[in-house]
Amino acid sequence: MAQFETVIGLEVHAQLDTDSKIFATSAVASGDNPNSHTDPVTLGLPGCLPVLNKRVVDFAIKAGLATNCSIEKESVFARKHYHYPDLPKGYQISQYDKPICLGGYLDVKTDEGVKKIGITRIHLEEDAGKSTHLETEDSSLVDLNRAGIPLVEIVSEPDMRTPQEAGAYMRQLRQIVKYLGICDGDMEKGNLRCDVNVSVRPVGQEEFGTKVEVKNVNSFRFVERAIEYEQQRQIAQIEQGEEIVQETRLWDEQRGSTKPMRSKEFAEDYRYFPDPDLPPVIVDELWVKKVKESLPELPDQVIARFKDIYQLEEYQAERLTEEKIVANYFDKAVSRHNNPPVIANWICTELFGRLNKEGIEFEECPVSPAYLAELVELIDKNVISGKIAKTVFDEMFQSGQDASSIVEKQGLKQITDTGEIENVVSEILAANPEQVEELKSGKEKVLGFFVGQVMKATKGKANPQMVNELIKKLTNG
Ligand code: ADP
Ligand code: MG
Repeated sequence: MAQFETVIGLEVHAQLDTDSKIFATSAVASGDNPNSHTDPVTLGLPGCLPVLNKRVVDFAIKAGLATNCSIEKESVFARKHYHYPDLPKGYQISQYDKPICLGGYLDVKTDEGVKKIGITRIHLEEDAGKSTHLETEDSSLVDLNRAGIPLVEIVSEPDMRTPQEAGAYMRQLRQIVKYLGICDGDMEKGNLRCDVNVSVRPVGQEEFGTKVEVKNVNSFRFVERAIEYEQQRQIAQIEQGEEIVQETRLWDEQRGSTKPMRSKEFAEDYRYFPDPDLPPVIVDELWVKKVKESLPELPDQVIARFKDIYQLEEYQAERLTEEKIVANYFDKAVSRHNNPPVIANWICTELFGRLNKEGIEFEECPVSPAYLAELVELIDKNVISGKIAKTVFDEMFQSGQDASSIVEKQGLKQITDTGEIENVVSEILAANPEQVEELKSGKEKVLGFFVGQVMKATKGKANPQMVNELIKKLTNG
């Protein structure tokens, strides 16, 4: 049986987070009341001219710079013609043979190490409206709020070989657009979505197999599952002696499979030509320089900083940078109290664990970074023990109060007064003469029993180290 290799290329659409549409003044707010954000340009009324939103170009340049693309001096908007009710003009404005960004790559972290995935191009285009086909009636509804919302399409080279690689690439791309602040990355809402191109070829064959494009894939899991399904389907077909037809298929979420949408014979002829209403986009070096200077720190840079300056382990640096909001939180906490490794631990274990358990998004985190920092400071200054700190943290999470107030109010301060601890230890030793003998005869286990008794008597507030030392001292005499 011949062995097959899968070849994958992704076309990712990211909705740009601008205030207004790409060529019109209406607001970008697709969830509002249907057709509440329209205007003559969005409606495609004859004689209305599109005017390019400059911010959209800034965002595309950002995307290009963050993915190592060259920014083209001149790019051109074209008309892509097709007929559909959610496209009033009869054409979509998109960049075709002269896109704004070319020839980049991403260093993608996969299970097999870092892999360079080429980026063919990034181009700008407008989104179409949204059609809702009614099941009970013989009609459809059209909402044009989404029409004219700016998109970038990021097209990869066919460089990926496994579903996991494609998933990792997509995740990293989402992380980057979110860090750049150009797209909210919300895949459930379709603000980030992707078309998956898949082909298979016998191992060792240089030529690519015929590809199938799967549309409508809107989660990481579905990207991976659609590829898994397609590679099996295509291999089975080839093994039965049949050819793969180039076609567009749809991901069927319910069935977990893909189904035909249209084949190449029915592929549409879009009759692309440069839009005469829009001049070429000219981006000079100064413009690129300005955008470059405005770029925020990107995930890889933050990871490097956390490792170099804060001495974090790779794994922890990666977890803390998955979301920009978490990285910011960590930075703020560390600026309040300089103990990065311990603060990192508290975020990754207690805070993540608690948010997860309660089903709360990080955005809604009830413990502020300054408060978490203060909690760690109280431990470092021996005001409370690490164990009590967990109780304090629970209270902080529930009430939103600061650590000091909780410690004060509930009397949780650690007992570090030698005399006070010594009194308790003496009492407990006196009450348990048999165990004292055991300890003296070398039964180390009994030490734990005594520490437990002292902690119980002090409600966990005695400094554990001091308790240990005092028990040893008083039984050695
Ligand atoms: P089309 O002209 O059909 O749009 P493109 O060459 O523009 O095809 O490629 C679209 C996407 O498909 C790109 O992401 C590219 O990497 C990917 N792709 C191209 N050929 C193949 C192939 N044989 N197998 C898998 N993916 C492919
Ligand atoms: Mg294409």
